[in-house]
Amino acid sequence: MAPGGFSELCRVDDPIYGALICFATRNEMMTQSADTFVVDKARIENAVRDILIAIGDDPDREGLRETPSRVARMYEELFAGMRVDPTSVMKTVFTEKYEEMVILRDVSFNSMCEHHLMPFEGKVHIAYIPDGKVVGLSKLARVVDVFAKRPQVQERLTTQLADILMHELSAQGAAVVIEAVHTCMTCRGVKKPGAVMVTSAVRGVCASNPPTRAEAMSLLHK
Ligand SMILES: [Zn+2]
Repeated sequence: MAPGGFSELCRVDDPIYGALICFATRNEMMTQSADTFVVDKARIENAVRDILIAIGDDPDREGLRETPSRVARMYEELFAGMRVDPTSVMKTVFTEKYEEMVILRDVSFNSMCEHHLMPFEGKVHIAYIPDGKVVGLSKLARVVDVFAKRPQVQERLTTQLADILMHELSAQGAAVVIEAVHTCMTCRGVKKPGAVMVTSAVRGVCASNPPTRAEAMSLLHK
């Protein structure tokens, strides 16, 4: 049994909202969504200590002594989105008879590439066309963080944001563009500093109506 009282951790990918955290206790599988889950920092500390040993360093030398606990606290913060239900962020909606495009540009974010556990960061641009329901801009920025603070890939982050707008606001359409620099590409592997990855997802009328799609893309790609 691991220090946190559970033996196996696994992720379940909800088709719309991504990660739910599952853990197996002695006899049963439990699914725990979000708020009550506590990061097992002791387990992270042990793992970081092992990494330091594995690369041939001495985890007990002065400069590294506090590193495992520092990394554990950092990971708790970087993966804080695992413990938040993104739909809870989108609950505060306002009824508004506005059916034109709403744009939120340049929402900066950072996330963690799930293939290398190295950061990627950049900007998210969001457009949606409401159908009677609008959401506060700060909530949109917040939901970006909830999805970003998880082990991620940029493509999934993009589609999760577009999907949650469609589902939680019943929007007529949504478009999301993300531009990001991946440190797993700039610091290692092909080492191409400055390369920017751009992803987009379009839904509803932003996908089906070419003029609307063109309008959204021209506003988001400025
Ligand atoms: Zn990567």
